[in-house]
Amino acid sequence: MDLDRLGEFGLIARLASHIPHRSRRVVKGIGDDCAVYSQPGGNYLVVTADALIETVHFDLNTTTPEQLGWKTVAVNASDVAAMGAAPRFAVLTLGIPKATKVNFLDRLYKGLGRACEAFGLDLLGGDTVSTPEHWMLSLTMVGETHKKRLFTRKGAKPGDAIVMTGTVGDSALGLQILQSPDKKWSGSTADRKHLIKRHLEPTARVKEATRLAKSRLRVTSMIDVSDGLAQDLGHLLSASEVGGELWETALPLSKPFEKTCIKNGLEAGELALGGGEDYELLFTLKSEDVKKLMGSFVNYGTPVTQIGEITARQGVTWVRTNGRRQTLRKPAGFNHFKENG
Ligand code: ADP
Ligand code: MG
Repeated sequence: MDLDRLGEFGLIARLASHIPHRSRRVVKGIGDDCAVYSQPGGNYLVVTADALIETVHFDLNTTTPEQLGWKTVAVNASDVAAMGAAPRFAVLTLGIPKATKVNFLDRLYKGLGRACEAFGLDLLGGDTVSTPEHWMLSLTMVGETHKKRLFTRKGAKPGDAIVMTGTVGDSALGLQILQSPDKKWSGSTADRKHLIKRHLEPTARVKEATRLAKSRLRVTSMIDVSDGLAQDLGHLLSASEVGGELWETALPLSKPFEKTCIKNGLEAGELALGGGEDYELLFTLKSEDVKKLMGSFVNYGTPVTQIGEITARQGVTWVRTNGRRQTLRKPAGFNHFKENG
């Protein structure tokens, strides 16, 4: 059978069936943003690995080495944050093309260092190999949380509020701009630069996750938005065995995103729903706690917005601005091994 018939997620499910867990200390194996391993004393270690491949995840004509280093750390820190955990350390495996100059590596490590500082972790080692042509960066990150404040994709209940940090869609639109250099874009250059920066230098919501973990807010499930809002919400809903309503009018859109969409005739809602790499936290919490959550994030600097509600009925209902209700059957989003999700 070819890989494209299975798709990325079908493949992972198949791989999972080959590797049963041996240790009782495994709290979570495959299927969440991180694996979870219990520690004596009541803490959990979480571990995640994410790789970036040149030509698939980045293009060196548009990314600086510093940005590449930053992003490699940020995408992993985002998965750690999505468990409610704080990043502690990482190891990095590099596949370096033969023609690389030393200066490139110095700049790459500057970006890595900055991100490690920003997200509060240490880079402790890794491996280095050479590749014939393209870059490969594979980072493994370990984080830590108290076992009572582990947030997983499972746990959302009907009536819970669906909430996200930050804004959605900037990165996808930034990528679209990068990938169409010949298109005549209308609107402000500064807005487009902002969107591109959001794609190349994403922020992991580590501080926000820690704030939630330290609070008494009843967070019932969490994931980070890497593949696209609809698809990642789909993962959270299926892990929790519930459905959800997503409200188009409530989606938090940045001004540069909205303005660029309007000026260029792009459908903001669709782009926000399907576009990936926002690296925001998407979580559910008891609806009685929404007020307290908003209070806790007022004047904090990162917006926190309720964008929908969990339902007992499975599937995602997309409630459009015009009031129409659409059932999203196969949420759009990124899937390796498939042409278009
Ligand atoms: P995320 O988008 O949050 O990084 P992924 O979609 O990459 O998550 O991975 C989903 C789950 O599948 C995770 O639990 C991950 O550890 C697991 N996984 C991915 N690739 C493999 C693999 N080759 N072998 C075993 N588990 C894998
Ligand atoms: Mg994730």
